[in-house]
Amino acid sequence: MALVSAKEMLEKAHAGHYAVGAFNINNLEWTKAILLAAQETNSPIMLGVSEGAGKYMTGYNTITAMVTAMIDSLKITVPVALHLDHGSYDGAKAAIAAGFSSVMFDGSHYAFQENLEKSKEIIAIAHAKGISVECEVGAIGGEEDGVVGNGEVADPKECEIIAALGVDMLAAGIGNIHGKYPANWKGLNFEVLAEIQKVTGSKPLVLHGGSGIPTDMIKKAINLGVSKINVNTECQTVFAEATRKYIEAGKDLEGKGFDPRKLLAPGTEAIKQLVIDKINEFGSNGKA
Ligand SMILES: [Zn+2]
Repeated sequence: MALVSAKEMLEKAHAGHYAVGAFNINNLEWTKAILLAAQETNSPIMLGVSEGAGKYMTGYNTITAMVTAMIDSLKITVPVALHLDHGSYDGAKAAIAAGFSSVMFDGSHYAFQENLEKSKEIIAIAHAKGISVECEVGAIGGEEDGVVGNGEVADPKECEIIAALGVDMLAAGIGNIHGKYPANWKGLNFEVLAEIQKVTGSKPLVLHGGSGIPTDMIKKAINLGVSKINVNTECQTVFAEATRKYIEAGKDLEGKGFDPRKLLAPGTEAIKQLVIDKINEFGSNGKA
C-alpha cells in the first residue's frame, strides 16, 4: 500500500473515539518495528520524523525511499502516513517535495499573526498534493527543539482561528510535556481541552508528549477529541534498556553476539512490543 494522508484515518478515529499513534522513527530498526506492530494489530499508523532525525537519516528523500520500500517488502497493508514532526516553514516544504504524506508545520514560536500566515501557506501547498497538515498553537512544554518550557496551555480563541484555515489536525498545549514527566506534574488540563474542541468543531486534536501520561488521562483526552497521540521518548527508553541488558549480560561477547543484527534485535523487539501496547491502549487496533 502506498503512503496515505493522515486526514481520513484521523477523521475515522475522531468519530470512533480512539486515537492513532504517531511514533517517531530514527533508523531502519525503528521503522521496521513500528510497521510490524501496526500490521500485527491491524491498526492505522503514523511514522513521525523530526527535522533532527531527518538529517540523521541523511535527508527526507532517503526516508521516503526507505519507508515506501519497506511497506512493500514487509507486505504492510494497513494505512501508513509518513509525517514530518515539528516541521519548520522550510522543512515542511522540503518534506512535501520529498514525498511525505503528512506534515506538521510548527509555527508556535512565531507571533500569532505570523504563525497564522505561514500555516495558511503550508496548508495550501500540502492540500494541493493531497497531503495532510498539522499546525500548533501555543508551545508544548518540555524540550521542543532545544527550548525548555513547562506544561503550557493554548488559547482556545487562537485554536479556533487556526482550525478555521482547514488544517487537518491541531496540536495545542494542554499541560502536556515533551520528554519525561516530572514527579510534580499537574496533569492534563481537560477544561481547556474541552473548550478547544468546542470551538474547533470536530477537528481531530493532537496530543504531543504521549510518553508517560497515565492511561485514564489518555482515555479521557481521547473522549474529548484527541485523535492522534505522539510517542517518542518511550520507544527510546525501551530500546536503550533492552540494549543495555544485552550488553551487561555479556551477550555481545558470546560467539557472534557482536553482529549488529543480533546486538540491535532486543531493542527492536522492545520497540515493537511497546508500540503494540500503545496501539491497544489508544484503541486503534483492528481499525485499519
Ligand atoms: Zn511534539
